[in-house]
Amino acid sequence: QPVLGILGGGQLARMLALAAAPLGVKTQVVDGVADACAGQVAPLVVADWTDYAALEAFAAQVDVVTFDFENVPAETAHWLAERVAVFPAPQALAVAQDRLAEKTMFRDCGLQTAAFMAVDTREMLDQALATIGTPAILKTRRLGYDGKGQFRLHSIADADAAWASLGAAAARHGLILEAFVPFQRELSVIAVRGRNGDFNTWPLTRNWHTDGVLSMSLAPAPDIEQLQGRATELARTLAERLGYVGVFALELFVKDGELLGNEMAPRVHNSGHWTIEGAHTSQFENHVRAVLGMPLGDCEARGVSAMFNWIGDLPDPAPVLRTVDAHWHDYGKQARPGRKVGHATLCAPTSGALADRLADVATTLGRLPQAQPALDALTR
Ligand code: ATP
Ligand code: MG
Ligand code: MG
Repeated sequence: QPVLGILGGGQLARMLALAAAPLGVKTQVVDGVADACAGQVAPLVVADWTDYAALEAFAAQVDVVTFDFENVPAETAHWLAERVAVFPAPQALAVAQDRLAEKTMFRDCGLQTAAFMAVDTREMLDQALATIGTPAILKTRRLGYDGKGQFRLHSIADADAAWASLGAAAARHGLILEAFVPFQRELSVIAVRGRNGDFNTWPLTRNWHTDGVLSMSLAPAPDIEQLQGRATELARTLAERLGYVGVFALELFVKDGELLGNEMAPRVHNSGHWTIEGAHTSQFENHVRAVLGMPLGDCEARGVSAMFNWIGDLPDPAPVLRTVDAHWHDYGKQARPGRKVGHATLCAPTSGALADRLADVATTLGRLPQAQPALDALTR
């Protein structure tokens, strides 16, 4: 039986392990904490990213290494790649870890982005604000997730506050200033590329964020007209440029019918959780297949799906459990403000049926505001 090693033990690793089992693939997870979520379903090695003795033993036990966590240090990924097959390759991971390199690559591949400039010093912030203007978002180049490490500037007068918040991070890893995009929609394309170059994408997903954290996804995204073909083509170009193997997500803004690249996640992605029940093959199963060199499964949607993200704490599962074709995911994590602790996916054969189920569940749970944008999109 092949053994897949996973760096990082969050809910993504847990869902990868659950998808791997029926394929006859064992999993082994490395995480810095003993209560890592994936440890509930897979053997867990507790080690940090520079514990090379533990990583050496881990590498000897697995056939392929992959990631649940995109910020594994590049040195660790390279070190492992000298000992065992690592997918995606450390070079691809490195690009996606740095917002500046990532956006530069997007442009090289023909994907437009918001105006951006590197910011390493307070003077560079002033220069970037003079060039880009406001509103704008200052972001750490590295290590940000769920909207952390970001500061929104409404006017030049916010520069002091932005620097007070992120100046220390500038010294460590650098920052990037981006023009704020007044987008009409946020979409993501989840894509998979196999070791032999086979490539496929799931239908575009529409996403809504609250305070920088994904709150709701709807797939296939309604009313996207000709954007699917363009998004697929861009994802393929990026994947081939990076020699990428595995699943990744490309986050896109739609502004006046044009696609702009926000970021890519070099791993399975929160906006693809609906694929577990809502597609012929889930993103987790296809990632396992891709990195182990198995044939990829098809990515077609079964009907229409909506995913609620549970942030901070879990609501009562009963209303979801009582609903037809609705699916509950409790990550078994401690409740904490802003933390992703679970999700629920509602599936239906048609948009109308999904809207009815979504409205019922959201109303019963007292979560109508969270579902409202998706309901509007479904019933428009
Ligand atoms: P993730 O959890 O997706 O990795 P992250 O911390 O890397 O999040 P981003 O994806 O850069 O953060 O930003 C989070 C959200 O903030 C975006 O999905 C979008 O809603 C909003 N946002 C980010 N950058 C911009 C921008 N330039 N213009 C408008 N909105 C933006
Ligand atoms: Mg990100
Ligand atoms: Mg993002």
